[in-house]
Amino acid sequence: AMREALIVVSNRLPFVLKPNEEGQLVRKFSAGGLVTAVAPVVARCNGLWVGWPGIFLEPGQEEPAIPESEDSHSTPFANLLSNQIVPVFMEKVHFDQFYNGCCNGTFWPLFHSMPDRAIFFADHWKAYLEMNQLFAKKAMEAVERLVQKEKDILPLVWVHDYHLTLAAAIIRKLATEKGIRIKLGFFLHIPFPPWDIFRLLPWANQVLEGLLGCDMVGFHIEDYCLNFLDCCQRQFDYKVDRKTFMVDHDDRRISVRPLPIGIPFDKFAQMAEQAPRVVKESRQKIILGVDRLDYTKGLVHRLRAYEHLLTKHSKYIEQVIFLQIAVPSRTDVKEYQDLKEEMDQLVGKINGQFSTANWSPIRYIYGSISQAELAAFYRDAAVCVVTPLRDGMNLVAKEFVACQIEDPGVLILSPFAGAGEMMHEALIVNPYEVDSAAETIHRALSMSLDERQVRMTHLRKREKMNDVDAWTVGFLKAMDSSLLGETIPV
Ligand code: UDP
Repeated sequence: AMREALIVVSNRLPFVLKPNEEGQLVRKFSAGGLVTAVAPVVARCNGLWVGWPGIFLEPGQEEPAIPESEDSHSTPFANLLSNQIVPVFMEKVHFDQFYNGCCNGTFWPLFHSMPDRAIFFADHWKAYLEMNQLFAKKAMEAVERLVQKEKDILPLVWVHDYHLTLAAAIIRKLATEKGIRIKLGFFLHIPFPPWDIFRLLPWANQVLEGLLGCDMVGFHIEDYCLNFLDCCQRQFDYKVDRKTFMVDHDDRRISVRPLPIGIPFDKFAQMAEQAPRVVKESRQKIILGVDRLDYTKGLVHRLRAYEHLLTKHSKYIEQVIFLQIAVPSRTDVKEYQDLKEEMDQLVGKINGQFSTANWSPIRYIYGSISQAELAAFYRDAAVCVVTPLRDGMNLVAKEFVACQIEDPGVLILSPFAGAGEMMHEALIVNPYEVDSAAETIHRALSMSLDERQVRMTHLRKREKMNDVDAWTVGFLKAMDSSLLGETIPV
C-alpha cells in the first residue's frame, strides 16, 4: 500500500501572523481543539496545511515568508515547520465579500435554518467562487509538492467547513488533469439544513457538486447526513442510499458519515484542577453562559428566561448570579451589531429591574477569556445554560462537563444543538419556550446531589471516550486511511 500524507485545507491556518515589537511577523497560536487534534497528525506524517494566515496583502504587495514557530517547546507534537505551511493570502476587499459577505452573511444563517437573516448577492458569490478556486489551486500545489518529493505517496486531502464547499470538486478536477491520484474528504463544522431551506440558496447546485467532489463527506450528526442525502436526491435526482449513507454520482460512490466532534477532555479536566478559584467569595450560585455573540446562540431568549425565573421565583433574588460571557464576533456584519445593541439594552433592563443595594442579577462580560480561565468558571458554576436556537455541535456543553470535577453542577441543553443529540443526561429544553426554560433553570438549581452526580458521571464518561482525538481517528477510519495504523495511537 502507498504511504499516505495528510493535507489539511481550512479557511484559517492553525496560527495567525502578527507583527512583533520590531515589526517582524511572528506566529500567534489559537488554542482550538481542532488544531491541537489535527496538527500532530499533519506533523507526524510530514503533511501540509493550507490556509489563510490572518493578514491582508495590499494590492501588488509581495507575499511575506512564513516564519518558523518561536516556541516549539510548548507545541512539540503540533509544531508545523514553515515548509509544511501553504499560505493563502488575500486582499481586504476579497475577504470582505468572501468572508463577511458570503460565508457569514449567506451560508451561516441559511445553514442554521434562519433564512430571513441571510443575504444573497451575486458579487459575494463571485468572490466565494474565486476564493474557493484560489484555495483549490494552493491545495493542488501542496499535492504536487508531496508527490514530487516522494514518488509512492498518496495525498489525503481534508477540506474543512462552509467557507470551502466548492474546493473539493475543483481539486479533484485539477488532480485528474495532472493524472495524480488523491483521496478527498470534507467535514462541515456547522449544521446541514433540510432541503426546503437549502434550496433557497441560488447556488445550491454548485455547492452540492462541490461537496460531491469528495470520496467522503462528514457531518456532526445523522440528521445533517440525512439532510444532505435528501438534497442530493431532490435537487439532482441522484441515487442515494439512506441505510448505508451513500450517494452515486459521476461513476463514483461518495460516502456520507456522522462524525461528532469532541474536545480535548483530559486537557480541560486538568485545567480545571489547576485553575485558581475565581468566585471564592460567592455564596451565590452561578448560572453560566459562554458563547460567541451570535444570533444562533439564543442569548436573548436565555435572558428572557432568566428574567422570567426572577419574576416567578423571587426566592432567587440575591441568591444566584447569571454570568454571561459573550465573545465579540463578526463585528463587521450588521446582524451582529444589531444583536450587540439588543443585548446591551436587555441586560441593562433586567439589571435595572431586579438589582438591590449589593447585588445585580446579571454579570455580563463582552469579551473573551483564555480557556484556562474559562475552566475555573466551568468548574465553579452550579448550572451551565447552553441553549442555542441552532448549533452544529456546541463545544461549551462538552467543556463544561469536562471541568465538573467537584460538587457536580447541571447542564441545561438545547435539543437544537448537535450536542443535544448525545448528551442525554443534560436537562433538555426548547429555548424558544421561555417559561419552560425558566422552570428548567429552577429545576437545575434545586436538583438533589444524587441526581446531579448520576447525570454528570454519565456525561463525563461519554465525552472522555469521544474526545477530539477519537474524532480525528473517526475521520481517518471513514477515509479508510493507512495513517490510522501508522501514526495514531488508537
Ligand atoms: N471560548 C474561549 N474564550 C471565551 C469563550 C469561548 O476560548 O471567552 C471558546 C470555548 O472554549 C469553545 C469555543 O470558544 O472552545 C466555542 O465553541 P462552540 O462550539 O461552543 O461555539 P462556536 O463559537 O464554534 O460557534
